[in-house]
Amino acid sequence: MANKMKEILEAILTGASSEEIAALPLPETMRGAIVKRDEVDMFEGLASEDKDPRKSVHVEEVPIPPLGPNEVRVAVMASSINYNTVWTSMLEPLPTFNFLDRRAAGDPLMARHALDYQVIGSDAAGVVLDVGPGVTKWKAGDRVLVHAIAVDMQEPIGHDDGILDPAQAAWGFETNFGGLGEIALAKATQLLPMPGHLTWEEAATVPLVSTTAYRMLVSRNGAAMKQGDVVLVWGATGGIGGMAVQYVLNGGGIPVGVVSSPKREELAKALGCERVIDRSAAGLEFWDGNGKQDQKAWRAFGKMIRDLTGGEDPDIVYEHPGRSTFGASVFVVKRGGTVVTCASTTGFAHEYDNRYLWMNLKRIVGSHCANYKEAWDAIRLTKMGRIHPIMSKSFALDEVAEAIDDVRTNRHEGKLGVRVLAPTDGLGVTDQAMRERHIGQINLYRDHT
Ligand code: NAP
Repeated sequence: MANKMKEILEAILTGASSEEIAALPLPETMRGAIVKRDEVDMFEGLASEDKDPRKSVHVEEVPIPPLGPNEVRVAVMASSINYNTVWTSMLEPLPTFNFLDRRAAGDPLMARHALDYQVIGSDAAGVVLDVGPGVTKWKAGDRVLVHAIAVDMQEPIGHDDGILDPAQAAWGFETNFGGLGEIALAKATQLLPMPGHLTWEEAATVPLVSTTAYRMLVSRNGAAMKQGDVVLVWGATGGIGGMAVQYVLNGGGIPVGVVSSPKREELAKALGCERVIDRSAAGLEFWDGNGKQDQKAWRAFGKMIRDLTGGEDPDIVYEHPGRSTFGASVFVVKRGGTVVTCASTTGFAHEYDNRYLWMNLKRIVGSHCANYKEAWDAIRLTKMGRIHPIMSKSFALDEVAEAIDDVRTNRHEGKLGVRVLAPTDGLGVTDQAMRERHIGQINLYRDHT
């Protein structure tokens, strides 16, 4: 680590003041997890399962990001692995350099991002190092999380709901200088307060998945869940699923979780999800071998849900597997109910029987991460000790490609943290009393995996 970076880390670890941090000279380079433009064809012709992140993701020394108006630079203590980083590392469905190049056209600030490397990562917990012209809300030394949506708000539509702004970009995926580098660049309108009762690596696993689940379930822009709603949660112990179960319980709903092993069934129950379907044990397969969906399998799945709920169908289905499950999700959701979707992990081209949708007045709602207000409200719940991190394990920055591969192959539980500047786990807590009050929930995933 360069000397200047060591001084920054030392200042953070010893609780230096805002003025002391503001006075620190920044290094010229930093370590970061990157993909490279000259490798975008490296997986050409390979099947998806053979696209190994350990070949495409490198940890290297790169220049620190340049600071612009309304931006901040953050010393990243920790980050986490999200599924979008899996897509970037597999160069699927497109190399993310395509996003950088498209956004660079006609926008000098975005043009800074279109480089020959991309520092990836869409979560961060750390400390503000400096702020650009126009930033008034934040200052050097502030302990922050970074929300994954960077938005400019120059278009009228964004002022109704920031995520609708056409210039909105997923940070560290559609932008450069993301959370898996020692110094990240974010817009001031991405910053959220760091919860004092969490460690850096725990806190860094929260923002992207929590804000996504909040919009999908709680927000009026999503399914606007009510007390007593039955919510079917696919992947109930996964990144966004583990957050969804918590939001359902916190809002007085009844989660029905789907998982794929007895171990995950136990984990879902420990999280408070009493009704669980193990899709492997139940042999849930909605497609027959001939590319057709099996409606009998939809009906059998609906019966499994009713058996767990005393005969009720889900008011809401929390969808993200996509092609493999979407037809079943539309079928099983209650008359008048909502399928809310944010992803298509198993394939984008969904098929469902529209008769069940229109005749039963069901709705499909598309959702994508969250606007800044939703993100703020979601993190407030973590700060209050109502929604907890679901981190099972953390990795050093040098091991980041292993962590990405664990998520790609569905071997991980919940979230994987990544220590970027933090030398060890366990640092960053300022509210020990609150931590002790919630320690069982904070450690739940680590204790059960
Ligand atoms: P994750 O941690 O890998 O969890 C996904 C879960 O899906 C797994 O735990 C797995 O649970 C389940 N699953 C996998 N294959 C399945 C299948 N064929 N049928 C049913 N369930 C299956 O990933 P994540 O972080 O939760 O993200 C999930 C998806 O949401 C990804 O595609 C990601 O890109 C997307 N996402 C979108 C947004 C957005 O803003 N649009 C934000 C966050 C995430 P079991 O094997 O236990 O069933």
